Amino acid sequence: MGRRDYDLFTIGAGSGGVRASRVSAGFGARVAVAEERYLGGTCVNVGCIPKKLLVYAANFREDFEDSQSFGWAPGGRRFDWPALIANKDREIARLNQVYRDLLDAAGVERIEGRARVVDPHTVEVGSRRFTAEHILVATGGWPSVPEVPGAEHGITSNEAFHLKSLPGRVVIVGGGYIAVEFAGIFRGLGAEVVQLYRGPLFLRGFDDDLRKTLAEEMRRKGVDLRFETQVARIERDDAGIRVTLADQSTVEGDAIMFATGRHPLTANLGLEEAGVALDETGAIAVDEFSRSSVPNIWAIGDATNRLNLTPVALHEGVALANTLFNDRPMAPEYRNVPTAVFSDPNLGTVGLTEAQARERHGAVDIYRSRFRALKNTLTGRDEKTLMKLVVDAASDRVLGVHMVGPDAGEIMQGFGVALKAGATKAQFDATIGIHPTAAEEFVTMRQKSAEG
Ligand code: FAD
Ligand code: NDP
Repeated sequence: MGRRDYDLFTIGAGSGGVRASRVSAGFGARVAVAEERYLGGTCVNVGCIPKKLLVYAANFREDFEDSQSFGWAPGGRRFDWPALIANKDREIARLNQVYRDLLDAAGVERIEGRARVVDPHTVEVGSRRFTAEHILVATGGWPSVPEVPGAEHGITSNEAFHLKSLPGRVVIVGGGYIAVEFAGIFRGLGAEVVQLYRGPLFLRGFDDDLRKTLAEEMRRKGVDLRFETQVARIERDDAGIRVTLADQSTVEGDAIMFATGRHPLTANLGLEEAGVALDETGAIAVDEFSRSSVPNIWAIGDATNRLNLTPVALHEGVALANTLFNDRPMAPEYRNVPTAVFSDPNLGTVGLTEAQARERHGAVDIYRSRFRALKNTLTGRDEKTLMKLVVDAASDRVLGVHMVGPDAGEIMQGFGVALKAGATKAQFDATIGIHPTAAEEFVTMRQKSAEG
């Protein structure tokens, strides 16, 4: 058989696909990447970046209010949603161009259009066919909307970034990352927000103290959080949206947003026909090196539903490029991945929750601190910051670092390094604080919390 067109054909130019393609090309591989929608994928276009820009916008409301406690005279201010969206779109267009340039500079061939796998060595984009030694599926995910009557009246995060105007009353369904982040965004920008979650407490999987603290703080900021609620049906008329809950009570709003999870974008890609096994969620089943059930078809990022975060997709992309083209098989590492929820206030976490630590390690020591941040001594805001350390009693190793409070996302990154390095509580204690900061609390907690 003659030489194939490419060493690697990547489907999807999102976080994972772009990184894997560029690094592979850097190792000398001949690489092409197909993209059907937008360069940079979810994170750049309808995810992390526009979300964080909206979070910044939302934070100004409290900043304006607080400024008076610091001597600033109150001034007239007006929020202009179309201006924010236009500025955000301009930045995203710039980033799309940056991605284009990065791929071109790396020598990766860009192919526009929807790609399908024809056989284990052939990909089709429109009427064109390409052969490749290896195929990488990095097609990401898409919002899932529950099948309730009237669900078509709802939006998802995809549409939230392009609304023509800011809704005055927003109903958000879900209790994961996206739901709490958008509750903070819409509330900060001035909307009335009702958030509906089906379970007893949102953010399942995070440390319980963080979940409770964030719920308290969000309520204090005016988000109407309703747990143990299920949407039964949705109706729309000229007055807006009417949501009927399972207990037959109703909630009204101008918009309803579903943030009820995402599913891997793997349908109609020709995968099953090519012999690629999917799991029950539609995710591509892969081994520790991101290899699918077909030896030369690989998958990374949200399409594999491992840990659906951009830095994880990037890491998986680098690992795969090393495995395939650098003679250095590298399995992605998932221990102690720091993460932040850009809620208001922020939530940041790395390592094990208290419950996970107790289950896996038995005896653990908990250090907990709840305090009012220095800034709020003047503003009078009652907002509390929570910090928590989970320590293995036997080895003194810090197993988990958790925080709810301003800048938790920024603060947690450094503690990610500490946990990766296997830091002990004694080493935390031996670290000098930076004063006056909130973060210094993490190295000055000496008093163990009472059990439970
Ligand atoms: P994607 O980035 O989704 O890229 C997949 C690409 O493949 C897309 O461009 C798609 O158009 C393309 N594609 C799909 N099918 C085909 C096909 N057949 N042919 C050609 N192209 C195709 N993560 C964080 O770490 N921090 C955050 O703050 C954060 N915020 C988020 C906020 C929101 C609202 C959302 C939705 C997600 C957020 N995430 C965040 C998650 C993050 O965006 C994803 O984990 C990440 O983008 C996954 O990268 P990926 O490469 O797997 O897929
Ligand atoms: P999540 O999986 O985080 O949360 C989904 C939420 O929807 C859960 O509360 C879940 O409830 C609920 N839910 C699921 N199905 C239904 C249903 N049928 N009816 C009612 N509620 C339902 O998904 P998101 O959509 O919030 O975000 C997707 C992923 O994107 C995140 O998990 C994360 O990996 C990534 N992301 C990361 C961000 C960051 O790093 N800051 C920001 C945004 C997204 P239950 O808990 O009961 O299952």
